[in-house]
Amino acid sequence: MSDILSIKDLRVSVEEKEILKGINLEVKTGEVHAIMGPNGSGKSTLAYALAGHPKYEVESGEVWMGDDNVFEMSPDERAREGLFLAFQYPTAIPGVSMANFLRTAVNAVKGEVVDGEKKAIPITEFRKMMLDKMSLLQIDRAFARRYLNEGFSGGEKKRAEILQMALLEPRFAIMDETDSGLDIDALRIVSEGVNAIKGPQMGIVLITHYNRILNYIKPDYVHILVNGRIIASGGQELAERLEVEGYDNVIKEAVQEAI
Ligand code: ADP
Ligand code: MG
Repeated sequence: MSDILSIKDLRVSVEEKEILKGINLEVKTGEVHAIMGPNGSGKSTLAYALAGHPKYEVESGEVWMGDDNVFEMSPDERAREGLFLAFQYPTAIPGVSMANFLRTAVNAVKGEVVDGEKKAIPITEFRKMMLDKMSLLQIDRAFARRYLNEGFSGGEKKRAEILQMALLEPRFAIMDETDSGLDIDALRIVSEGVNAIKGPQMGIVLITHYNRILNYIKPDYVHILVNGRIIASGGQELAERLEVEGYDNVIKEAVQEAI
C-alpha cells in the first residue's frame, strides 16, 4: 500500500497559459500539509490537475501514490487507489439524495470486484456505515434524505463532503478551500469533522487562503504557493507569520532569500 503522495516538478497549463511552474511536494499518510497562497496563485489548479480534469493540461512532471503513477490512472482509478478531492465549488445534483449519492460513491470506490463484476455493498450494511459516520461527525439523520447540495448552506455542503470523505476513508485527501464561505461555527464543526476522521492512515493537503482553519486543523507543514511556485515551506509558524505580516512581506522575504 502506497503511503507517500509525491508530486515532482509538476507543470500545468490552462488554455495554453502555464499556471503551475514546477511544484514539488511529498505528503506521507498521517501528515497534514497546508498549501496557502493568494488568489490566482494556482491552488485550485493543483487540485484539478490531481483530479484529472480535462481542462488542466499536465505539461510535465509526475505524481505518484507509492508505486502508482497517478497520471496513468483514470480519475476513478485514482479514487479507488485512495485519492480524494474536495472542491471549492461543489455542484448540486437535483433529485439525488445524500444517501443514494454516498452509496453510489462508496460502491464505486470500495465495492469489491467478484468475477469481473462489481459487487455493491448491501443496503443494510451501507446504512450502518453511514449512520456510524454521521454520528461520529454529529450530523443529523435527516441529512441523509436531503437532495445533494440542493438548498444546502455553505456549511452543509462542506459537511456533506466530510461525510463522503469519512465513508471513503481515502489515503490522501486534497481539500480545496474547505473553509471558504463558512461562518465561524460552521468552520469549527467542519474542522472537528476532519479532525475526527484524520489519522495515521490518511494524508491531508489542506488548500487555503486564510490562516483561520489552521487554528482548528493543525498542519505539520505549511507551504506558500505564489504564481505557480512553492516559494516557502515551514511549520505552523509560517502560517502565523502570514496572518500577522500578510502575503506581501512573506513573499518579499522569500524572493530576497532566493537571490
Ligand atoms: P487559486 O485557486 O490559487 O485562486 P486558480 O488555480 O484557480 O488559483 O487559478 C490560477 C490561474 O489560472 C488564474 O490566473 C486563473 O485565471 C487561471 N485559471 C484557473 N482555472 C481556469 C479555467 N478553468 N479557465 C481559465 N483560466 C483558469
Ligand atoms: Mg482556488
